[in-house]
Amino acid sequence: MTTPAGRRDPVTPTDLVTAADLVAFVDELLAVPGPLPIVAAGHPVLRRPAQPFDGQLDPVRLAALVSAMRDTMRAAPGVGLAAPQIGVPLRLAVIEDPAPVPPEIAEVRGRVPQPFRALINPEYEPVGTGHAAFFEGCLSVPGWQAVVARHDRVWLRALDEHGRVVDEEFAGWPARIVQHETDHLDGTLYLDRAELRSLSSAQAMAERWTQPTPAEAAEALGFRC
Ligand code: ZN
Repeated sequence: MTTPAGRRDPVTPTDLVTAADLVAFVDELLAVPGPLPIVAAGHPVLRRPAQPFDGQLDPVRLAALVSAMRDTMRAAPGVGLAAPQIGVPLRLAVIEDPAPVPPEIAEVRGRVPQPFRALINPEYEPVGTGHAAFFEGCLSVPGWQAVVARHDRVWLRALDEHGRVVDEEFAGWPARIVQHETDHLDGTLYLDRAELRSLSSAQAMAERWTQPTPAEAAEALGFRC
């Protein structure tokens, strides 16, 4: 979960207000081949509500940006990437999860494979009152994970990269992914919702907290889940 090395960091504009500004910045991003640089926590673009997509990018540019975001997500690797994480303040995200985890973890976490899709102008609302608490991380907060209690089912409305309507329920890990990515578009990071006593380094995660649930971590670190 690190930013691919060997690339310059772009000077990310913090006030991409007009469509022309957005187009110029996206063209600058796409001019360099390979994964896009990922913006880290502390950059204002991650803390501002993103603009609804209403055609600021023409279909060719949008397709190229979605493709570059897909490549960036896969290279990181991650299971979701929101446009503000590459400095683009648009309500756009990509998700994909091949779910390469052992069956016992997949079952407890509801981690079923999620095909690639882009989500344009996504909005979710909870279905029922159930919550699930698990460790998660963010490509914009590299090296750390924390436990977040999230709705275990949500209804998501969006358009996909082909302009088709997404109007469906997500459950389990895919529900967690779409909440995390949609939150990015509202300027919210997972740490805003996390149990901060659970905050764990990548090393601590690998050495101690690989169990299917965070119950042992809760006991040892002193948080409720
Ligand atoms: Zn994130």
